[in-house]
Amino acid sequence: MKFLIANRPDFPMAAVEELAQGEFGLTGKLTELYSERDLNFRVSGGDQGDFVLKISNTLEESALIEAQVQALQFLARTAPDLPLPRVLLGRAGQPVVTLRGKDGASHTCFALSWLPGSVVSDAGLQPTDFRDIGRMIARVEQGMRGFFHPALGGRGLLWDVRELPKLAGKTHYLGAHQDWADQFIARFASNILPRLEKLQAQVIHGDIHGHNLVLGPDRAISGVIDFGDMVHGPRILNLTNALADFLHDGPDTLAIWSALVEGYAGQRRIEPEEVELLVDLTLARLLVTLLITMTRAEEAGDQADYIRDAGFGSTEGLAAVLALDAGKVTARLAGAAGLSAPVSGQSVAEMMARRGKVMGGRPYVFYDPPLHLVRGEGVWLIDVDGRRYMDLYNNVPIVGHCNPRVADAIAAQTRILNTNTRYLGEHLLDYAERLGALTGGALTACAFVNSGSEANDIAWRMARAWTGNRGAITQEFAYHGITEAIDALSPSALRAAKTPDHVRTVLGPDGYRGPFKHGTPDLGRRYAMDADRAIRSLAEAGMKPAAVITDSAFLTNGVLEPMPGYVAELFARIRAAGGLCIADEVQSGFGRMGDHFWGYQHHGVTPDFVTIGKPAGNGHPIGVVLTRPEILDHFLEQTAFFSTFGGNNVSCAAGLAVLDEIRDRGLVDSARDVGGRFKAGLLRLRDRFPIIGDVRGMGLVFGMELVSDRQTLAPAQGQTDRLLGLMRDEGILAGSEGVLGNIVKMRPPLVFTAADADFALAALERALAQL
Ligand code: PMP
Repeated sequence: MKFLIANRPDFPMAAVEELAQGEFGLTGKLTELYSERDLNFRVSGGDQGDFVLKISNTLEESALIEAQVQALQFLARTAPDLPLPRVLLGRAGQPVVTLRGKDGASHTCFALSWLPGSVVSDAGLQPTDFRDIGRMIARVEQGMRGFFHPALGGRGLLWDVRELPKLAGKTHYLGAHQDWADQFIARFASNILPRLEKLQAQVIHGDIHGHNLVLGPDRAISGVIDFGDMVHGPRILNLTNALADFLHDGPDTLAIWSALVEGYAGQRRIEPEEVELLVDLTLARLLVTLLITMTRAEEAGDQADYIRDAGFGSTEGLAAVLALDAGKVTARLAGAAGLSAPVSGQSVAEMMARRGKVMGGRPYVFYDPPLHLVRGEGVWLIDVDGRRYMDLYNNVPIVGHCNPRVADAIAAQTRILNTNTRYLGEHLLDYAERLGALTGGALTACAFVNSGSEANDIAWRMARAWTGNRGAITQEFAYHGITEAIDALSPSALRAAKTPDHVRTVLGPDGYRGPFKHGTPDLGRRYAMDADRAIRSLAEAGMKPAAVITDSAFLTNGVLEPMPGYVAELFARIRAAGGLCIADEVQSGFGRMGDHFWGYQHHGVTPDFVTIGKPAGNGHPIGVVLTRPEILDHFLEQTAFFSTFGGNNVSCAAGLAVLDEIRDRGLVDSARDVGGRFKAGLLRLRDRFPIIGDVRGMGLVFGMELVSDRQTLAPAQGQTDRLLGLMRDEGILAGSEGVLGNIVKMRPPLVFTAADADFALAALERALAQL
């Protein structure tokens, strides 16, 4: 590996003058400029203006010079506004000329226009200047999109951070930082490089720092120079190399970095995967700079001080960056990149006080202290301190937090058209037809709303209209939503109020804790028979059931597994009494239970209504009632149903993208397979930890019931809350559920992988061991 550059070209002045005039037609005064490896002259006062004449080192590959010249010519076409050097063509119309040295070696020569001003590192920069610099980096980058030259791919340039592992043997130069550097380089090779390879790449300048930026008299950037370090590589390195190189120019590193990131991101969007790597890539560049500088200093012997003083890299700079909290820096830079709400730096107590004022005196948040989340990605949630949590709780982002396909579909449609169902539109028709097809053609008529509650509300109104009945039957601890009519069907939400007169509750099919235990013959029918009591009770009050509503996964009843025959028997009884059947698929639909798209398919029934919400838009608000055409028609005869936002173009685009993701990524089958693996792990934990009384679930929805006594089933409610806190500390988020609050509820996004399942199980095991 070569660290020192030798063989600077050596030509008498007369030969240079001959080159300037003879080949490029340049008259004017020649002044030699500093260069580490080439022979450079400023040609000033000539007729054509000022130029830089470059005679390259013999070691410089002519292909690389050709690449530089071509890049500048490309930029002159794609980004003519940018203040970049222009290539002067020689007399014969060619951009480069070859000059033979005394020793016969050939040197490549070319001339570029001179950019007036002074290099930035002399200029004492303000924060706003850094924003301009960030913007300029992105503009040059954008100008180079589509440019390529073979010499720039796989170039192996030592300054390219991707070459950092090659410097692993040099870390002894770092003294106290050596151990850190060894560990960092190992992590860089195993973890960061593979992630870097997946990022968008192109030819980048890669070396925009103070010595390569020219500032005009009005402080505006009047030039970007030196394209000698161009490589084909991840675009983000353009920015992170600059973050590392601007470290020495001011005391407040974070302010400088934020300004650079803000300026850059204002010009081209930084992707979340890029933001996550900002700190590590900056550290990598700092290390590369330091290690190359120190190695060169060592090899230079008596020139060592000169090389060190050239100003590239200092261990103090590295120490200052290492003293920063990487998570907080990332969060702040994410804010500067416009990728998260700007982080105010407010404490939890301050935010809770503000919340209490605007959201009521019972500000219900999870966890103590609560989580302040700033970003989501796949199965992960990231808090304000940059800590990552695996999300086993939220059932809405079914195809992963901030799923790019869904986000893109929403963003694209937002820019094209967003209006309502009073106009024709393909998205709406496609979405409705796809949903209907997913019911096997049983329920093909759709009413579009904006939430699960509204979907249930409309289904309930349709059922009343169709049957002419008033009574309702619901599970004893069900939850179906917030409207007045649906609150009445949600016993789990009724705090002080009592169940209204037209509502009867029936037993949840709980073979673990309920009155009939697993193993009892005819268990499903025994539970379903409770509907007879409810129907009789309604009749005694002069009512018939308009509908029964069931959540196919019985989440709020404690995540109950499908009990053979139960729902079929229940529906049969309701129908015999004149009522309709609503399958609330807000939680259980979209493949959540594995094997089938809908939860009701696990019960072998066909409902009269399917209601959807939560995951339908992966977080974008969508609610739909699916029913039979005659039921919808009947309803529309009675009422002028219309929802302003329901079924709007953007919602339908989001809904279609979710369906595409589930189909294309095989998420229903994956929920079954990964869910099976996770459940097997939970069952192993039950064998080890007596507090786990029962493990239930199918697909990717689980309940783990905690008891202090496996015989009496005494609920371990306090322990459940403690366990959730310990799980949070171990980096996994879950919730509690059930009448007694002693069931740990887990519903990760369906993009949950086998590796995620293993990670979660290991974390859960550690949490249980501390309980
Ligand atoms: N039904 C079920 C089964 C639910 O879990 C919920 C929400 N937790 C709802 C309906 C209500 O949905 P939304 O909050 O979107 O109104």
